[in-house]
Amino acid sequence: MRLYSTNNRNHFVSLKEAVFKGLPKDKGLYMPETIPTLSKDFIQNLRQYSFQEIGFEISKSLFEGAIPLPDLRKIIENAITFPAPLVALDEQKFMLELFHGPSLAFKDFGARFMAQLMGYLNRGEDKELVILVATSGDTGGAVAAGFYQTPGIRVVILYPSKKVSPLQEKQLTTLGDNITAIEIAGTFDDCQDLVKKAFLDETINTRFRLGSANSINIARLIPQSFYYFEAYRQVQALKNEANPKVIFSVPSGNFGNLTAGILAHKMGLPVEHFVAATNANDIVPKYIETGDYSPRPSVRTLSNAMDVGNPSNFSRLLDIFAESALSNEERSTWNNMRGKISGFAFNDKKTKQAIIEIFRKYNYIADPHAAVGYLALLEYFEKHGDENTTGIIHETAHPSKFKEDMDEILGQEVPVPERLAVLAHRKKEATLLNSTYPAFKSWLIETL
Ligand SMILES: *Cc1c(COP(=O)(O)O)cnc(C)c1O
Repeated sequence: MRLYSTNNRNHFVSLKEAVFKGLPKDKGLYMPETIPTLSKDFIQNLRQYSFQEIGFEISKSLFEGAIPLPDLRKIIENAITFPAPLVALDEQKFMLELFHGPSLAFKDFGARFMAQLMGYLNRGEDKELVILVATSGDTGGAVAAGFYQTPGIRVVILYPSKKVSPLQEKQLTTLGDNITAIEIAGTFDDCQDLVKKAFLDETINTRFRLGSANSINIARLIPQSFYYFEAYRQVQALKNEANPKVIFSVPSGNFGNLTAGILAHKMGLPVEHFVAATNANDIVPKYIETGDYSPRPSVRTLSNAMDVGNPSNFSRLLDIFAESALSNEERSTWNNMRGKISGFAFNDKKTKQAIIEIFRKYNYIADPHAAVGYLALLEYFEKHGDENTTGIIHETAHPSKFKEDMDEILGQEVPVPERLAVLAHRKKEATLLNSTYPAFKSWLIETL
């Protein structure tokens, strides 16, 4: 398996290099040279496979022998250890619950797979691997849980001060051991910038072996394609149909999740359409509407894991849709993207109303991110009709991760799962830094 940079289609690296580096020097993003098409037979008969077997079949095709199959099977079995159940709201609207992992968010899939893969590829290295990761809330918790106590790997997590929920903060700051948390007086974009700068800094790279674990890492993206197939399998079973018509509504911030869905589609999953659901940070819906891509500083919202002003996976989306434009000169990248993805944005007021509506109408407690996904699906159905279509909303985090807001919106206590509740009593340990690069650089050099 080889991977290229979205900024240079002629420069290839190995899987190991792409996974450990995360980001190419030319500031593009790594993409697999070939995205395999899985057989029709496999896709129509997903019902005969377990979730883990689906993950194995996909990675087997994608990795092209880069990892011996028995090792690959073990990586999948250790990474995919919890289900992604589809829960019906009504006949046509479903929540795909992606929060059954240790940190209660979908990012557990990417983080666990990446931790397994890195641990495997890191065998035999004698210099410690330092993983730098910026988080707007959920990435950090998932990465911390995924890598906790992995030998030979240290994890440094940067998060924006006062912009993550109290329990999210506990997930980042209470594990200890090989997990270190840095609290940045700034925004998520500042955190992301600091990490990007460190990766491009010669001094830091000579001193440390750096690894990335953000959604920019291709190892995070790959396993996220598994649950699109897993969702499709469940619809096949529910409807007793081999080719059900399915739409995914994906609450989006950095657009890793949606990009993984487009990869699944490229691999042959017959998805009718994708809906990009965002909060007030509506850069991509605006692009889809106007063709104009204008990143801007993120604003804070109720669905804070989607507060991203310059989505890092957007260049991967452009890359995928530009390629399909090459073979059909009539159509621009923008047109191709619009043909497959619709985008809708909603403010916090609408999001709160949706949480209440979903609870009253369906007796389901949706978190703020899924509530945005729900609104976007409704809007899509309104515009395009919903005949014979199954709409799947990604429920990206357990509602109790946003307990303070949820309790207030619903006027009642949202139950907290045991694995989260125990964190409230643990002690926070984090280093507070300002958002300038020199401060972060000195900390790295002096502390590690
Ligand atoms: C990260 C996250 C998102 C956004 O996912 P992207 O892949 O960055 O688009 C949505 N919801 C929750 C709960 C998240 O943690």
